[in-house]
Formats: sequence, C-alpha cells, structure tokens
Amino acid sequence: MLAHAGDMTPVHRGDKPDGEFQRIGRSFSCCSLHFRGGDPCPRPRVPVPVAMVVDGRMANETTDLLVVGGGINGAGIARDAAGRGLSVLLVEKDDLAEHTSSASTKLIHGGLRYLEYGEFRLVRESLIEREQLWGMAPHIIWPLRFVLPQTQSPRPAWMVRTGLFLYDHLGGREKLPGTETIRLDASPFGDGLKERRGRAFVYSDCWVEDSRLVVLNARDAANRGADIRTRSRLVSARREDGLWAVTVANGNGEHRVQARVLVNAAGPWVSDVIAATGVNARGRGVRLVKGSHIVVPRLYEGDHALMLQNPDRRIVFAVPYEGKFTLVGTTDEPWEGAPAKAQISAGETDYLLDTANRYFSRTLTASDIAWSYAGIRPLYDEKPGRNGPGSASSVTRDYLLDLDAEGDRAPMLSVFGGKITTYRKLAEHAMHELARFFPKAGPAWTAGATLPGGDLDDFDAFVRALVADRPELPPALLRRLARAYGTDVRAVLGDAQAMADLGEDFGGGLTAAEVDYLRNREWARTADDVLFRRSKLGLHVPAGTAERVAAHLA
Ligand SMILES: Cc1cc2nc3c(=O)[nH]c(=O)nc-3n(C[C@H](O)[C@H](O)[C@H](O)COP(=O)(O)OP(=O)(O)OC[C@H]3O[C@@H](n4cnc5c(N)ncnc54)[C@H](O)[C@@H]3O)c2cc1C
Repeated sequence: MLAHAGDMTPVHRGDKPDGEFQRIGRSFSCCSLHFRGGDPCPRPRVPVPVAMVVDGRMANETTDLLVVGGGINGAGIARDAAGRGLSVLLVEKDDLAEHTSSASTKLIHGGLRYLEYGEFRLVRESLIEREQLWGMAPHIIWPLRFVLPQTQSPRPAWMVRTGLFLYDHLGGREKLPGTETIRLDASPFGDGLKERRGRAFVYSDCWVEDSRLVVLNARDAANRGADIRTRSRLVSARREDGLWAVTVANGNGEHRVQARVLVNAAGPWVSDVIAATGVNARGRGVRLVKGSHIVVPRLYEGDHALMLQNPDRRIVFAVPYEGKFTLVGTTDEPWEGAPAKAQISAGETDYLLDTANRYFSRTLTASDIAWSYAGIRPLYDEKPGRNGPGSASSVTRDYLLDLDAEGDRAPMLSVFGGKITTYRKLAEHAMHELARFFPKAGPAWTAGATLPGGDLDDFDAFVRALVADRPELPPALLRRLARAYGTDVRAVLGDAQAMADLGEDFGGGLTAAEVDYLRNREWARTADDVLFRRSKLGLHVPAGTAERVAAHLA
C-alpha cells in the first residue's frame, strides 16, 4: 500500500507504548526532528497509511513491509522503505540494538584487513560509506586517526604500505586525511606504548555510537510513518492468499498481522525466522562467530586509536572510550549456543589482556576490566567448511540478500551478514530487490539525508553555541548531550536553564528530562535501555542508579 493524500491525523506511530497494538487510522510522517533551531519543517509532509494490527484478530488493512529485527539492518531497511512511502511495521523481540548492533567495535571503516582476503567490493563500498554516514550523523559519527605500529608486525612494511595505498585510493575519501608514516619516538602517537623505537603508519577511519545509530534510524523511520514495536516477537508466519499472515507476541499476548512482504533482518536468528515461516532455507547458511571486547582504564593520551597486530596475524583495536577508558577488541570465536547467551570467555579475556600488555607500558590484569561485552556476528556462510573451525576471522564480512518470491508467492527477503558500516547501502539494495513489488514506491533517497539531530555542519561550533545559550548548565553535560542528540538536544532540554529544571538527578549527568525523552521518543523501557544502549552512562553513574532509573520508568 502506497502513500497517498488522506487524513492527516498527527500521530507519530513509533511513540505508542509497547503492546498497544491497535488500529489508529492514518498518520503522516514529518521530519520535525530534523529542522534547525525551530525553523518550520523544510520538507513536505508525506501521508502514509498506518499499520493494520488489531488485538487478537486479523485486521483488514495490510502493511507493505513487515521487518523482523530492530538491529541496524532492520532499522535501516524500515527507514529507507518508510521514506519511499511504504507502510512499514518493524517488530523487535527485545530492545532496539540489544544484540549484535550494540556489541561491535563501533568503527565505520573500510576494513583494512579484509584486503588480505581480496574483499575489494566490500572494502570499496565501506570506504565510500564512511564519509557518507559521517555527513548524515556528525554527532554520533566522527573521524579517528588509527596508528598501526610496525614494531611487532607479522606483515612486512611493504605489504602494509600497499594495503594502505589501496585503502586511500579505492574510493570515497574526500575529507578524511590520507596515510602518513611516523617515527613513534618522535610523535605523541607513541604515548603509552612499550616499544617506541620504530615506525608506524597512521591512517583514517570513523567511530560510531552503534546502538544510537540503530535508534536514530528507527526514530527516522517512525518520523516517516513506520510503526516500531519493541519487545514484540515474530512467532510464526505463513503464506496465505498471496500475503504473509504473521503472528506476533508481546506483553499483551499474540496478535495477527498481514503483510505483503516479509523482511527477515533477524541477524544471528535469521535461520530461526526462516524456520518460523516453514520455508526451505534454500541452502543459505549463517555462521555465528562471537567477538568480545574489554573496557579498561585509559591506556594512553590522545584521541587516536591503535591497530595492534598479533603474532597469529589477527588484529585488535584499542580505541579511546567514554573519556576515561580504552576499548580493546575484538576476538573471533565460532559460536554454537543461543545468540542471546554470548559472553566473553576466560580465553578471550586473556587474549585481549595479552595483546594490550604486549603493546602498552601499563600492565593490565583481569581486575582492571571495568566492563566487557560480547556479540555474535551473523556471517554469511559462503562455502560451509571451506575455512574450517579455526579461521572464523576469514569468513566474509560481506552481505547477501536472499529473495524468496517464486511465482505469485508472497516475497520474503532475508539478510545474511553485513556490517554496521554498510547498513545504508544494504537497505538501498534491499529496496532495489523489492522494487518490482511496489511499483509506486519512491526512489532511493537516503544518501545525504541526515539522521535525527544530524543537521549540523560543525559539531564544535554547535556545542559552543549551546553552551553560550545555557550558561548555567555544565558545559561537559551539554557536550555529552550534543554528542548523543545533536540538534535534538533542544527537545531533551526544553526550556531548562539550570540543573534543577531538568528534574531528578540520577548522577553522572543523567536527569529525569533525559530519561523521559528516551522513554517518549526512543522506546526506552528498562534501565539497561537507558544506561547501556541509548547511552553508556552505566559506566559513569553511582551504584544504585539502575534501580532509580527503573523506578522512574515504571
Ligand atoms: C564483535 C563484533 C565487532 C564488530 N565490529 C564492527 C565494526 O567495528 N564495524 C562494523 O561496521 N561492523 C561491525 N560488526 C558487525 C555488525 O555489528 C553487525 O554486522 C550488525 O550489527 C548486524 O546487525 P543486524 O541488524 O543484522 O543484527 P542484530 O543487531 O543482531 O539485530 C537482529 C535483531 O533481530 C531480532 N530478532 C531476532 N529474531 C526475532 C524475532 N523472531 N522477532 C523479532 N525480532 C527478532 C533480535 O532480537 C535482534 O535485535 C561487528 C560485529 C561484532 C559481533
């Protein structure tokens, strides 16, 4: 069902509380979260038919796209489709970004090491996406310089130099500085390193707040009319009369939904969702590979990251994290358990500590670890068994879109693999695959379209203006909020001029005003949603905060 003029009831469908599955007529999408400083919405409002879910029974209306999975790929596809005028319902069984999409190394990167595996298509697409995504969300994505010491390199310098030459020239680099070679003993980039006699290469990539990228895509999808349902699980789906008849379970019981197209963006659960449809997996496989990170007290000064090469030829990143920490990761371990149960193992902890201790002067032990997390990569298994169980790092990071739509069967598109970096292109490719089912859908539009809060040219200038505007609020708090919400920071702060205006103070800079914003605009329901996904304030707040936030949300 495509957008056409109709009733313009101002309902943001993404704002309804969980479980309130009901028929709510038509709504419109508005980019009201995007405009600068209170200017009127610069884009025309596009009326979009609303989803069609009625408690306990099949509704008459049918949604165009039912997207399963609120990770980066599901949220990105929902946004793209909603912006083309399609009606979209996204169901996520847990919280947005609760799984792989909050457990990444948080790099928007070409993937220098993928060149070793000949993944030129993937690297080129990723390199081009770096600056594209940075421009779309400069509050949550920013450039980083990466120092690659050659002091303990298992690769000859000529090989690394050749890789970096390709990296600089494969495409898409306009603003990011290119590679340089430095002497570690003569550069601040050598700070904190044990071995400073020798050279290093310094190159560019970008950082991303991964879980916020997911939430902002969902927010933008909802602004454009999509219905985003967290804590809502697809239980089963069957093809009936050319449509999908889907059962979704949430806190209010089971609901029946009709959709023209099913998009399976369930990440590590992609095969389970295929099984829940009763459809043959057509030989497509997913290989689950666990990756873990540790967060330790800051190991060096400076805003740069380091790419550390290990004797096993694997690489581990050390990245400045949340001001006072360094993030160290990742590992690659085959995983056969339930994806939601992934946790860092003792072996992974030792591996990451050994890597850090090999490079940095400060000696770390397990007691230095402030936090750790683990995630499951849902990698596309090109040729099962080719690489053997020991070579999880060499499984392709590229993605595959599998369209099951023979004859007049209701189509299902399944997403295998992918990276945070390629999510926008993946969504565009997904919509290209589905274009023939929606001939009236709009064209590709996401290149250059800012995400909520991302309509700012110069982040530092934006922060300076914000601080000048609210002189009684702590500048460090304003800077953190600007990083998280960009120009939408004004919606978080309202008219507040002083801390007392922001309501209950939970410590660590978290106030009731922010928690309310996260609940009302970003689907936060639990303390973890607030403290570890929509922010990382969990690393900074005093003991007892989680309980107080939970009580506030109740
Ligand atoms: C350790 C590690 C480091 C990484 N580092 C990087 C990096 O630096 N840069 C980069 O670009 N990429 C990186 N990646 C890759 C990237 O994180 C993933 O490719 C991406 O997050 C996958 O997103 P997704 O949406 O496919 O899966 P997910 O984020 O897992 O989302 C799938 C969602 O589907 C939901 N779901 C499943 N079944 C159902 C159901 N029946 N009903 C409703 N919902 C359901 C799940 O709850 C889940 O939230 C890394 C990955 C890992 C593991």
